[in-house]
Amino acid sequence: MLFKNILLTLDQDLNQLINSEFSGNPQIFESSWFELTDQQKEFQQLARRFAREEIVPVAAAYDRSGEYPFPLIKKAWELGLINGHIPQEYGGMALSNFDTCLITEELSYGCTGVGTAMEANSLGQMPVILAGSDAQKRKYLGRMTEEPLMCAYCVTEPGAGSDVAGIKTRAVKMGDEYVINGQKMWITNGGKANWYFLLARTDPDPKCPASKAFTGFIVDADSPGIQIGRKEMNMGQRCSDTRGITFEDVRVPKENVLIAEGAGFKIAMGAFDNTRPPVAAGATGLAQRALEEATNYALERKTFGRVIAEHQAVSFLLAEMAMKVELARMAYQRAAWEVDQGRRNTYYASIAKAFAGDIANQVASDAVQIFGGNGFNSEYPVEKLMRDAKIYQIYEGTAQIQRLIIARELLGRFKK
Ligand SMILES: Cc1cc2nc3c(=O)[nH]c(=O)nc-3n(C[C@H](O)[C@H](O)[C@H](O)COP(=O)(O)OP(=O)(O)OC[C@H]3O[C@@H](n4cnc5c(N)ncnc54)[C@H](O)[C@@H]3O)c2cc1C
Repeated sequence: MLFKNILLTLDQDLNQLINSEFSGNPQIFESSWFELTDQQKEFQQLARRFAREEIVPVAAAYDRSGEYPFPLIKKAWELGLINGHIPQEYGGMALSNFDTCLITEELSYGCTGVGTAMEANSLGQMPVILAGSDAQKRKYLGRMTEEPLMCAYCVTEPGAGSDVAGIKTRAVKMGDEYVINGQKMWITNGGKANWYFLLARTDPDPKCPASKAFTGFIVDADSPGIQIGRKEMNMGQRCSDTRGITFEDVRVPKENVLIAEGAGFKIAMGAFDNTRPPVAAGATGLAQRALEEATNYALERKTFGRVIAEHQAVSFLLAEMAMKVELARMAYQRAAWEVDQGRRNTYYASIAKAFAGDIANQVASDAVQIFGGNGFNSEYPVEKLMRDAKIYQIYEGTAQIQRLIIARELLGRFKK
């Protein structure tokens, strides 16, 4: 009885607060710094509709077949839902990082396998957007706005992923060309790309610092000497195309060097400040989907004479999931907003990527829990979400590497 009275009083207090503080002043909810513009809302709605009407119905079939979702990519391209960040002078829409993140979250709600295939374009393009000459941008970004082409970011190798400075691919200057030899691994869009951003070592001296030893190249995918490996069968995001690629005496004109010899490491790493917020947005889209699937299920499934949402253990689990999704969204929005302000966002980008990657895994796993036995079965959507989520703790810098970066940035601010 006492408990009930306390609850009633709390309820009344809350109502009073709502009536006095907010009801007469609805703008209080609308004036926040992250209120979306009308244009952002339009893009968000378009992407949301596309995900729900076009991606969701076919996502399970693509997951089963592993087929590359080119029909979906082509439609998304026609609607302007990919490549949005390409500058206007090269045929793009010059969307901000924040804008592209909003779109990415929505598309990823539909299927993150499809989302990753699309997002890999941004990763491949980003070094060119950040460091390309006018001629390079016109040639390689321009063509992507003229037809639905893919590109890829070729950095990881069989022997080096987290330790980027450990890559062995070599580029040797011969006259007006560079000759490239080496092997790349886990390249998203590897078998579908029209061109690659490729990082190779140009200074063989092991004492040469990473900031000078590597060079970034744009490589046409049809260059002689490129051998594309088999499509890897991964745990999740199975329709995304991941492959190893071998470069054997591949000749690249010196015009395809980004900035200059020795600038590659900074270009390759600098791209991540721009691409980690969208990756975090993708993880958030997956988590949002898991939350919605679990909530709908919890409102239908009955045990012990009531829907499972009425068991406090289940509703609290849903509440925890909701908290995580909301915070992941705020984290990616902050990281994107920082970079749009022209500020160094490394700290926020890694926080967003690490947090959203972790919570996507937690929320997807909790969704499986709420579905019970059905959650473990491929007739229901959540086991796919759980498989798809894992990669968010691995690619574009593992969960551990993000923590290294966050700690470095944090300690750097405090060190005198
Ligand atoms: C599906 C998929 C798609 C990918 N797409 C691309 C792509 O498009 N382009 C591309 O270049 N790469 C891509 N990658 C590669 C991806 O970025 C790497 O797999 C990732 O960076 C980890 O590298 P690794 O696999 O070599 O693991 P390793 O670097 O060998 O790490 C193994 C484990 O050790 C931990 N670890 C390593 N070093 C440290 C440290 N110093 N402190 C603490 N822990 C550490 C890691 O966190 C990890 O848990 C992709 C990978 C996959 C699986």
